[in-house]
Amino acid sequence: MALDTSWFSEIDDEADSAFSLKIKRKLHEEQSPFQKVEVYETEKFGNLMVIDGFTMLTSRDNFVYHEMMAHPVLFAHPNPKNVVIIGGGDCGTLREILKHSNVEKVIQVDIDEAVTRASEKYFPELCESNDDPRATLLFDDGIKWMQDAADNSVDIVIVDSTDPIGPGEGLFNVPFYQQCRRVLGEQGLLIQQSESPLIHLELLQSIHNAQREAGFATTRSLQFYVMSYPSGWWTGTIAGQGDLTQFRREDAENLNFEALYYNAAVHEASFALPNFLQQALPE
Ligand code: SAM
Repeated sequence: MALDTSWFSEIDDEADSAFSLKIKRKLHEEQSPFQKVEVYETEKFGNLMVIDGFTMLTSRDNFVYHEMMAHPVLFAHPNPKNVVIIGGGDCGTLREILKHSNVEKVIQVDIDEAVTRASEKYFPELCESNDDPRATLLFDDGIKWMQDAADNSVDIVIVDSTDPIGPGEGLFNVPFYQQCRRVLGEQGLLIQQSESPLIHLELLQSIHNAQREAGFATTRSLQFYVMSYPSGWWTGTIAGQGDLTQFRREDAENLNFEALYYNAAVHEASFALPNFLQQALPE
């Protein structure tokens, strides 16, 4: 069936495939100094944010991504107090992190203020915790921020980035991970959104390799399902020094906040990888 202008389509050149959402209208279009930010109202998925033609999030399914970028890594750390988000300008990951009462400080470093302003307007539910006194929103290059940060000063780094093209490119390589390793010290953990295991397997492998080359002794990918991303099947990759599948199970089993996707069983299951991924990724 031919798609007319009432459909938004993201074309994935690597898989020669496309994912489309039927739209009611375009709500916002802006060329920021860094990227083109668009917001559409869709028929069935609420609002849709697009950056440089790539889907960032929809109202309907962003909870899966944001919960899985925040909760597994936070529960894998014995006592996370200081958290840094690189990217994440829509503020959905920030909201999830702030649900953890042991977190004392979260700094979100997104290069593009236009993303946050659009999110405040069109995804206000994601921005409901932005005034939490524990949160600081900075608009700066995350690569530069990490270079300037003190050694051993952060417990968790969450790289909630765009794809590795444009301003996000330098967030997927060894020099950036080396800076993260230095800033995290021995106990700290990193999670990076690491794309689709089906479509972007080489990139996923290169993320593991780069993290290990940068000094992280262990890396593990976890998987989850976001229909509006290419293939609908997505990963995050955690890097640290010890067994990354260990977590504060009792706390995860007795969540003291609302989660729509995350629970202790999902946490554990998300690390179970199909054979082709076990073979492709380092132990
Ligand atoms: N959930 C999304 C996904 O995987 O498609 C990511 C969403 S979040 C909107 C991505 C953010 O990364 C954007 O707001 C973009 O401005 C930010 N970003 C890209 N490169 C960056 C950099 N070098 N430093 C800080 N933020 C960056």
